[in-house]
Amino acid sequence: MERVNTRIDRDEARWLWLNASDEEMRRRASEARARFHAPDTCTYLVMRIINYTNVCVAQCDYCAFYRLPGHPEGYVLSTEAVFAKLDELLALGGDLAAFNGGFNPHLPLTYYCDLFAAIRERYGNRLEFYALTIAEFMYLADHAKLSYAETAARFKQAGVRWITGGGSEILTEDFRARHSKFKYTVAQYFEAQRAIVEAGLKTTATMVIGFDESLDERLEHLERTRQFQDRTGGLASFLCWTFKPYFTNLGGIEIGTAEYLRHLALARIYLDNIPRIRTSVLTQNERALEGLQYGADDFDLPIEDEVTQKAGATISLDFEKILGAARRLGFEPAYRHVTSRNGT
Ligand code: SF4
Repeated sequence: MERVNTRIDRDEARWLWLNASDEEMRRRASEARARFHAPDTCTYLVMRIINYTNVCVAQCDYCAFYRLPGHPEGYVLSTEAVFAKLDELLALGGDLAAFNGGFNPHLPLTYYCDLFAAIRERYGNRLEFYALTIAEFMYLADHAKLSYAETAARFKQAGVRWITGGGSEILTEDFRARHSKFKYTVAQYFEAQRAIVEAGLKTTATMVIGFDESLDERLEHLERTRQFQDRTGGLASFLCWTFKPYFTNLGGIEIGTAEYLRHLALARIYLDNIPRIRTSVLTQNERALEGLQYGADDFDLPIEDEVTQKAGATISLDFEKILGAARRLGFEPAYRHVTSRNGT
């Protein structure tokens, strides 16, 4: 990926965050966006997150979704239940599913490989799926006593093409020690992501803000992401969303959209090697579309995600209303299909 001469470092990013007006952030982010995208265009897709199990032993304090093994509300979806969700997604005009569950010690690697192979066989290229997040991928590798490379190869053999960068939240060791100490270190996270890239699978970068992270922690996350992309070129996109605190042990007050938009702008300016920066309708609803003015170029229209919905997120199926919000801001949305082999 070609770098621009205007690459900023952490000190400059800190200065921008603390001193630049919203208008200045918008302007700088839009200039950075224009390196990759026509100013009045954006893309979107209709997708659903399939939370195949809520049983998890990681016990992150910011999570309202998980249930410990043995809890009466714990569940695992059958293959038929997953098919029903995929059929509904197709009927609603979507073609991307993302699997996200917990660290369930009762599910062997074969559960996942069989499920993904069955999906590929039944749907072929009519839909694409993000099989797991990196956090789940790491747990499964450990549980199966396989290396990350071996685990990635098994998934590839089962028809998997994508493993997303989910489960990153804030990529600093301090943050993980404070909030998710059973969820692997940052070094392990990138080691796993490198193995995924080297196996020929596609992956993404994610970030969640609005916990108790400091500005320096946010900047460290962006820096590590940019470095990984410099080294591998394997990140298809960057998606940031906001922590929903309701019913979590961590709790707290949700950050406002204005702060989210400034952070999107900062991410666009800082991540000069990732063309696709995505804004989060799932956590910001229609106001996420303002992110298109702050450097974002792409978004999901989600139809389900139990993890964030349990913690306070709300979902609308009135797609035309949401797309209308993009049009009113001067952007013409085009559907982006991830379903072709070369889809990104
Ligand atoms: S965020 Fe994920 S890994 Fe952490 S407790 Fe919730 S389900 Fe488990």
